[in-house]
Amino acid sequence: MGSVVFIGAGPGAADLITVRGARQLARADVVLFDALTDPALRELAPKARWINVGKRGFCDSTGQDTINALLVKYASEVSVVVRLKGGDPSIFGRLEEELEALAQAGIECDVVPGVTAAIAAAAATQRPLTRRGNGRSVSLTTAMTRSGALHASRSADTEVFYMTGKQLAALSRRLIEAGWPTHTPVSVVSRAGWPDQLHSDHSVATLPRASMLHAGRPTIVTVGAGARPLAAATEPTADIHRAQLEPLKP
Ligand code: SAH
Repeated sequence: MGSVVFIGAGPGAADLITVRGARQLARADVVLFDALTDPALRELAPKARWINVGKRGFCDSTGQDTINALLVKYASEVSVVVRLKGGDPSIFGRLEEELEALAQAGIECDVVPGVTAAIAAAAATQRPLTRRGNGRSVSLTTAMTRSGALHASRSADTEVFYMTGKQLAALSRRLIEAGWPTHTPVSVVSRAGWPDQLHSDHSVATLPRASMLHAGRPTIVTVGAGARPLAAATEPTADIHRAQLEPLKP
């Protein structure tokens, strides 16, 4: 019986995987990966069998059962199975279901953390998620619930939203209902950590304007203290519709 290693691939570029993640990946016989991860990661395990189980390969709940079954199947056939996930496996990554399925089958697992998209967006924009004095708490929220209802709250100094999809206008309304002042800064970053990442600054009231720019791209919406540009930064401040390419620094 083999074992399964869950590895966080980070948000994009292959060099954002951890050293431990890269080493464990190199041991893989089989890699089950999601569509979001960088194809260049394949070079870290060229001899492994790579199987795409991302959303394009399967869809939602039946897909999850299939993935669970594939993990168990391959773990009984080979020695090391890697389950490669975008960002960090424990953040909106269905890790719970997969760990449970493997535990039920008596298969040993290990989890290697990765850089989650919220952190990648903060790094890309040089907007620290915590700020001394007025940015003491950070909340990671999925905007999408199982029922399809949009969820937004004001539970921390900085709220980071994943999976906002096409719902930025609705998110703006929900944030106002949740008590965020309309002028609160909002930073929107899509494809953070990739060479074509995009960043735009808004306020809670003008967030709907971000929809077109980031349409169809994985997007992180940061609201509150952590969205504020640094005082000394040369960038224009919030509330203007700004798009700029911020290529990765070598
Ligand atoms: N486990 C992942 C999140 C998976 S949920 C992590 O830790 O990052 C998928 C959502 O993550 C997307 O809808 C988007 O909101 C966000 N996301 C993933 N990669 C991203 C990226 N490179 N840039 C911006 N958002 C990203």
